[in-house]
This record gives sequence, structure tokens and C-alpha cells, in this order.
Amino acid sequence: MDILVCVTRVPDTAENEIEVSKDGTDIERGALVYSINEADNYAVEEAIQIKERVGGSVTVVTVGTEESEEVLRREMAMGADKGILLTDDAFAGTDGRGIATILKAEVEKGKYDLILTGALADAGAGEVGGMLAAMLDRPYASLVNSIEIVDESTLKVGREVEGGNTEMNRIKLPCVLSIQTGINEPRYVGIRGIRQVASVQIPVHGAGDLGLKAEAIAPRVQRQDYFVPTFGAGAEMLEGSNEEIIEKLVEMLKAKGGLK
Ligand SMILES: Cc1cc2nc3c(=O)[nH]c(=O)nc-3n(C[C@H](O)[C@H](O)[C@H](O)COP(=O)(O)OP(=O)(O)OC[C@H]3O[C@@H](n4cnc5c(N)ncnc54)[C@H](O)[C@@H]3O)c2cc1C
Repeated sequence: MDILVCVTRVPDTAENEIEVSKDGTDIERGALVYSINEADNYAVEEAIQIKERVGGSVTVVTVGTEESEEVLRREMAMGADKGILLTDDAFAGTDGRGIATILKAEVEKGKYDLILTGALADAGAGEVGGMLAAMLDRPYASLVNSIEIVDESTLKVGREVEGGNTEMNRIKLPCVLSIQTGINEPRYVGIRGIRQVASVQIPVHGAGDLGLKAEAIAPRVQRQDYFVPTFGAGAEMLEGSNEEIIEKLVEMLKAKGGLK
């Protein structure tokens, strides 16, 4: 099975203090440490496990900047066969529909049985996978937490639904699935693995190579403002050491009947 996994590079929230930029339309990106989007790492692991079961290939693709190459190499060190970088000045500041449009153009250059995305990335819209499926006119399942191969044209997929329940579906290939974190246990990627793929050529495609005009990817959703909401009446900020905060929180929960 030939699988394409869409991956993206996001600020690592364990490594950074995230601050809103002065103009209020983005976050301060100057000194951020970036890493692979967590859900995408699960999607790549799932693709590799499918390849190990039935054969085929795993390609990882990202829309980003030159720096995004590092996440492609990381996922290649994990076991993906090939990486593709989609970059162009015209792609900067596009929205989810624009990202899906760029990915669709790349998908149409290859032949993929299965396309995986993560359930969510840093902007948190969870929109790219569904839009990509619609643009390609392929069946789509979101929040997938298990994949079973029924036969060469059908998968059985579990979806996480409300209340921690799982829904099972049959879905026809070729299809697009957005993968939920926790579907598997992503394998460890060591420095040695990263060194092994350090000099592998990564094809780079821009708007011209993909036949994309600027107006097709111009954002139609324009971010206006980012802000930290003000605290409303009744909000109380707990202060002190972690132990003191936990102690106060437990007392408050007990007082309000939330804990016995
Ligand atoms: C400087 C800057 C300016 C921006 N301005 C705007 C704006 O004006 N309006 C606006 O709507 N958005 C804007 N964005 C947000 C950006 O376009 C989002 O990353 C995009 O909308 C994807 O949304 P998401 O992160 O919610 O992805 P989701 O839809 O939550 O991601 C789901 C999955 O889609 C795939 N995916 C997402 N992004 C990529 C990618 N780049 N490459 C490959 N696969 C991907 C991954 O598999 C991911 O797990 C801006 C971003 C930046 C950095």
C-alpha cells in the first residue's frame, strides 16, 4: 500500500513559553524550538506499521519553509521512505484551505492508496484533512484510533466519539484519514537514525511545479487578533508552589462537592 502522510512543524510547547506577538496577529516566533506535530508522528508510525504488515511505501510531505526539512528527516529516520518539501514565498500566511489546496496538487502528482493527516496541528482547526479529502473527492474518516486492513480495497477504522466511545466503520480505498494521538506507540528516533538520512535528497516543489496560482492559495480566512481573555468575575488565580496550589485546589474541590 502506498501511503502519503501530511506532517507539519509546530512550536514545541514543552520547550517554549508561548507569547502573543506585539501586533497581536501571531505568536512570537523568534526563538522558538520546533518539533514534529504530535498527531502527525502517530500518523507516520501507523503508516510504517501498515507498510510492515502489507508492504508498499511511506512518503511524508510538508508545506512549510526550508526549516521544515528537519521534520521530514526525523520521520524518514523513523522509517518513512521518502520526504517531499512544498515551499514557496507564495505559501506564506495561507489558511487551512490553502494548505489543503497545495497538498492536493502534490497528491495528484503521485499515486497514493491512503493519505493520513494528524487530527490537529498548532492552529488547532482540524480542517486540513477533511478539506483535502473533499477536494480529492475521496472518502474521509476523522479522529481515527484504529486501522485494520480488510482487503486490498477496504479498511476497517475505529473513530473516537463522544464519551470515550469508539465507532467502527468500513471505508473504501483510496481514502483520507485523520489520526488521533494514542492510536499506537511511536517508535524512538535516535541520533544515529537521523544521521543515516542526513544526506538523502529531499525533492522541493514550489507553486510553479504544482501548477498553483497565487489566488488559489491566498487566505480567505484572515486572522485578525490573538489575545489572552481577561479574567471574568469569580475567576481566582491560585498562587504559590506547585504543592501549595494542588493543596488549595483539592480543598476547593472538596468544598464545592467535586471531591469526597
Ligand atoms: C505566519 C502565519 C500566518 C498565518 N496566517 C493565517 C491566516 O491569516 N488565516 C488562517 O486561517 N490561518 C493562518 N495561519 C495558520 C496556518 O495556515 C495553519 O497552519 C493552517 O490553517 C492549518 O491549520 P491547523 O494548524 O489548524 O491544521 P489542522 O487542520 O489542525 O491540521 C490537521 C493536519 O493537517 C496536516 N497539516 C496541517 N498543516 C500542514 C502543513 N503545513 N503541511 C502538511 N500538512 C499539514 C497535518 O497532518 C495536521 O496534523 C497562519 C500561520 C502562520 C505560521
